[in-house]
Amino acid sequence: MKLVFASNNKNKIQEIQALVPNIIQIVSLEEIGCIEDIPETADTIEGNAILKANYVTEKYGFDCFADDTGLEVDALNGAPGVYSARYAGEQKDANDNMDKLLSELKDESNRKANFKTVIALNLNGKQNLFTGIINGKIIEEKIGTNGFGYDPIFVADGYEKTFAELSMEEKSTISHRGIAVKELILFLQKLSQ
Ligand code: IMP
Repeated sequence: MKLVFASNNKNKIQEIQALVPNIIQIVSLEEIGCIEDIPETADTIEGNAILKANYVTEKYGFDCFADDTGLEVDALNGAPGVYSARYAGEQKDANDNMDKLLSELKDESNRKANFKTVIALNLNGKQNLFTGIINGKIIEEKIGTNGFGYDPIFVADGYEKTFAELSMEEKSTISHRGIAVKELILFLQKLSQ
């Protein structure tokens, strides 16, 4: 069975292929000839995951799943949220985004934040959503060089190190994306039993 992952990120695709049951073949956007940018115009993380999955199913006719992620900061009423990638502008620069966030939180004592990933799956005419959340806090300076995005300023609850100081394996065991992917895999495993 072919299942499109609405992504062209080869690492993400390989990672998921290794985890799903063998009868499921994960296919990238490129492989179905979808080379255009899929609109991400919703104003929620869930909404964008659904938009992307529906775009592929409606335009190309394939079963598909899509993910969307954002960082939600309590003191900023959930911002940057769905706008995490372009928080400091369309250049989508991780350092600029972190600098903007640190300056917005200057003198703020409530540093609570969470990462949230939503995966929308369209399969056999039905839609299911899988959500992964990791709670933590935004520290006051950037520490660490691993990972990407806001990793150098995010420390998960119960940890001393930032996400950017953890190895990829350590991070994906506890991360928002890791949790959402595990839920998706469990669902697909149950279906194929
Ligand atoms: P995407 O939906 O996975 O493309 O994520 C949107 C944006 O959220 C990224 O451009 C990053 O700024 C941020 N982000 C997503 N996942 C992570 C993560 O694991 N660590 C740090 N930042 C992340």
